[in-house]
Amino acid sequence: MNVAVVLFTSDLRLHDHPPLSAAVMSNSFVVPLFVRDEGIAAIGFDAPNRRAFLADCLRDLDQGLRKRGGRLILRSGEVVEQVCKVVADAEADEVHMAAGVSAYARAREVRLRRALEQEGTRLYVHEAVTTALAPGAVAPSGSDHFAVFSAYFRRWSQHELRATLGAPRRVQVPLGIHSEPLPEREGVTGVSPGLAPGGEEEGRRGMALWLGNGIGQYEERHDALAADATSRLSAHLHFGTLSAAELVQRARSTGGAGAEAYVRQLSWRDFHHQVLAARPQAAVADYRTRGDRWRSEDAAEEELHAWKEGRTGYPLVDAAMRQLRHEGWMHNRGRLITASFLTKTLYVDWRAGARYFLEWLVDGDVANNQLNWQWIAGTGTDTRPNRVLNPVRQGLRYDAEGAYVRRWVPELEGLEGSEVHQPWKVPEARRALCDYPDPVVGLAEGLERFRLGRGLE
Ligand code: FAD
Repeated sequence: MNVAVVLFTSDLRLHDHPPLSAAVMSNSFVVPLFVRDEGIAAIGFDAPNRRAFLADCLRDLDQGLRKRGGRLILRSGEVVEQVCKVVADAEADEVHMAAGVSAYARAREVRLRRALEQEGTRLYVHEAVTTALAPGAVAPSGSDHFAVFSAYFRRWSQHELRATLGAPRRVQVPLGIHSEPLPEREGVTGVSPGLAPGGEEEGRRGMALWLGNGIGQYEERHDALAADATSRLSAHLHFGTLSAAELVQRARSTGGAGAEAYVRQLSWRDFHHQVLAARPQAAVADYRTRGDRWRSEDAAEEELHAWKEGRTGYPLVDAAMRQLRHEGWMHNRGRLITASFLTKTLYVDWRAGARYFLEWLVDGDVANNQLNWQWIAGTGTDTRPNRVLNPVRQGLRYDAEGAYVRRWVPELEGLEGSEVHQPWKVPEARRALCDYPDPVVGLAEGLERFRLGRGLE
């Protein structure tokens, strides 16, 4: 009897899953395995929102497998050790998994290959499972990755994607393989009250709704903060409950300017993944250093605290930071503005901001988070590294009526229309009715700090 183990990581789905399809095709029995990796917990990556979303994903994956005659096997501990144990328990001949991108995932793959080979078991690592295009699938001549998005996007768009796969009809798991009980979302503490549910079924429902309804207006509305007119599928892409390759192809087939703009945005995800794959250090170190003399977190402690709490006195920054805590998700425009404010107005190191985002974001992802932070801080791939987003101007442009701010900062509910973006200009008598702080720093002063620190004067 042929037995394969499929190790699920950031690909918690049954549809369009090359490792699972390959394993089912060439083996009579398959062990679908997820390891709660103690290494991930040790580096502080299993934040409550992601842990809760993961619990939903594992339950949903198990249900999907049960409908096909199988079940999910869950183990906890050191990942290589656990995979080897399951291989021994099931007398498996091969292991299939998706290729990873981060330094952690790469190192895991190397250790696993070595350990399995010692036992005579083959490891098959499948590309383009977590991204639409594998990192390195397109590269400029003389380099291992693209450092400029527009050039990457041109090549990415021309490259054919692999054909998408259906979910296997049947998954037969050998008898007698022990599984730990699956975790429950309810057992996780410190979760955002408005956290969305996880799982492939939810992801596919969201994808169908988005492709049927939302995508057509993406180009005009994606930046309108109050409209909330983006796909909100990022967590499903992060956990792999949706396949990026399938989403790109299905979005393309809807046609039109909205789909084009959406697919372009999806390619940013692949772009950051190929940068991280080629430069794993970019998770912690400047991709392109600008000689910044960041204020120390001690010196900026009060301002950093106000930023985290959503009490900077800049309504749009505060609204977005409160959305982050409440939902474990933040609108992209909000992420840009709050990150610019931290790095270029408070002049605090991007790593402090990235760390805080990873504590809360349900889609929190090393490639997308760290490299977007670097992009906005000007230490990454932005070709205009000194750009600063003015939170008042951004508010007047992307939240013209102030509805987004009023949704998240109820203290300012009494202010009308766009005046909500500059409460300090509102006559004292009305302003006194709002329990809202003065700005932690003037924008001109902040800009001066940034220019001095970066050596621009
Ligand atoms: P949509 O607008 O519907 O976009 C479609 C998809 O494209 C997203 O789901 C996402 O997978 C991808 N995408 C969109 N914009 C970007 C981008 N700039 N970079 C990479 N991929 C993108 N995204 C994450 O998935 N995880 C993160 O940890 C993360 N951290 C970020 C931190 C900062 C400072 C900034 C500025 C952006 C960050 N982003 C991150 C990118 C982006 O904000 C989110 O992907 C997006 O807001 C998710 O919402 P959505 O699914 O509705 O996006």
